[in-house]
Amino acid sequence: MRLVLLGAPGSGKGTQAALLRDHYGVPHISTGELLRAAVKAGTPLGLQAKAVMDSGQLVSDEIVLSILEERLSRGDTGPGYILDGYPRNLAQCSALDALLARLGQPVERAIQLDVDAELLIARLAGRALAEGRADDNPESVRKRLQVYEEQTAPVIDYYRHQQKLTAVDGVGALEEVFARVVEALDSRYA
Ligand code: ADP
Repeated sequence: MRLVLLGAPGSGKGTQAALLRDHYGVPHISTGELLRAAVKAGTPLGLQAKAVMDSGQLVSDEIVLSILEERLSRGDTGPGYILDGYPRNLAQCSALDALLARLGQPVERAIQLDVDAELLIARLAGRALAEGRADDNPESVRKRLQVYEEQTAPVIDYYRHQQKLTAVDGVGALEEVFARVVEALDSRYA
């Protein structure tokens, strides 16, 4: 199962990715989590990324690619992977294709979690209260949604053109959404 999970901030990618990891037994690789870990560890790269992340903008392609390469070099992706939060713009799509071609592990499928903007904003406001993530303040949330529309929405077309994309309704209980994703992945012609 070599999967890219796409969806706006608040679409439930992280939650679904964790369920999919357990279901398919492949690692969940979240560039957002890798970056937050680098920030927490206080690495030079993390220090550089922190202000950008807090403001809701994208960290530079070079930095994110380097942490992704390092993660993939761990060698546990033989059975596959679930990528969450990458690629986020068209330059990252090309970089990813090149990297995965080199590793002989190209993307097989892309799932887009579809959730409308009003619900995204409500979910992120709820998460701000529950988790206190620095980039869940209203201004950063607005910025992240704008960045998504401008830079990440084209990524959906990229996978559609490669005939790897399935859009899944991301509204509902997490178990319901999960069932839809698994159904889409398990049906060959989805
Ligand atoms: P969300 O999708 O809810 O915004 P993530 O955990 O995926 O949350 O990402 C949090 C932040 O980490 C992003 O706003 C961005 O600053 C940074 N980030 C994560 N993945 C990437 C990426 N592929 N390219 C650039 N920046 C990234």
